[in-house]
Amino acid sequence: MRDEVSSEFELIRRFFTPPESDHDDIVLGVGDDCALIRVSPDSELAITTDTLVAGVHFPLDTDPADIGYKAAAVSLSDLAAMGARPLGLTLALTIPEIDEAWLGGFARGFGEALEREGGTLVGGDTTRGPLSITVTAFGDLPAGSAITRGGAREGDDIWVTGALGDAALALRLLLEGRDCPKALRSRLDRPDPRVREGIALREIATAAIDVSDGLVADLGHLLDASGGGATLRLSEIPLSKAFEDALGGSIDWSLPLAGGDDYELLFTAPPGARPRILSRLAELDCRVTRIGEIEKQAGLRIVGPDGEPFAFERSGYDHFRG
Ligand code: ADP
Ligand code: MG
Repeated sequence: MRDEVSSEFELIRRFFTPPESDHDDIVLGVGDDCALIRVSPDSELAITTDTLVAGVHFPLDTDPADIGYKAAAVSLSDLAAMGARPLGLTLALTIPEIDEAWLGGFARGFGEALEREGGTLVGGDTTRGPLSITVTAFGDLPAGSAITRGGAREGDDIWVTGALGDAALALRLLLEGRDCPKALRSRLDRPDPRVREGIALREIATAAIDVSDGLVADLGHLLDASGGGATLRLSEIPLSKAFEDALGGSIDWSLPLAGGDDYELLFTAPPGARPRILSRLAELDCRVTRIGEIEKQAGLRIVGPDGEPFAFERSGYDHFRG
């Protein structure tokens, strides 16, 4: 008898890994941040879909404008992880009732994200039921220029944009009923998809993924696709001032390592690319930090702030794990 399926990724592997396609124009199928379909000899379409469920992906009291913003942002973040430019999005909305104030706020937030990052609402579906939002985003790329999860090579640097752990800390403070500083709450409610940065990293990054499940889990996905292993140095993990202030000196490393919802870009590139990465991302006003290296030896090694090995289980958000 087969083992019971008990995790999100096992479930996808078991039921939704299609046989190898013999369709030449499917460049990339299940398993990356987007699928890639060739639409002309020199261009590809990147496609991604994400669902937000009330109480799972956002606290129930979240401002509807923030829900709309986040619904667009999480899909745009997957386009960013491939280096794709947003084109169109579809919105499948399930709502329990018609609440005009809620709908007005939601639509405004959704529109604000598209105005900032690009992309146009081109269709969708509207049904009645428990609140849930599914956004499919389509982006384009010059053929062959997508940054996949699978291209990291031994000796590559591991980089991350922005800072990690803010959204997870915000969620923890809210769940514990404590005051949550605005700077942290906005990172949970209005993630900043790194669309321009992803485009700037085409031709430079060897692999990329957006950090949605947590740094260790998402680096694990990248290593699963690329092969090899990695070392991460905790002393280099970028933290925000709001994060450090809220924790008052004692850092809970599980927040930046396993907290999801950061929507930063985690990417790899050879050491020779350092000057280009620093200058391109500085032009976009984006903080970027080198946090480790890709190595031949499988597995993830984490070096603690004291230089000693730091024990940490590969864990991240999984909708079905007990
Ligand atoms: P991300 O966090 O980048 O949105 P996920 O972790 O949600 O990616 O999904 C991992 C991979 O599995 C993606 O390539 C996604 O398209 C694919 N996937 C997830 N659910 C399904 C499904 N029900 N059918 C087919 N593919 C799926
Ligand atoms: Mg992703």
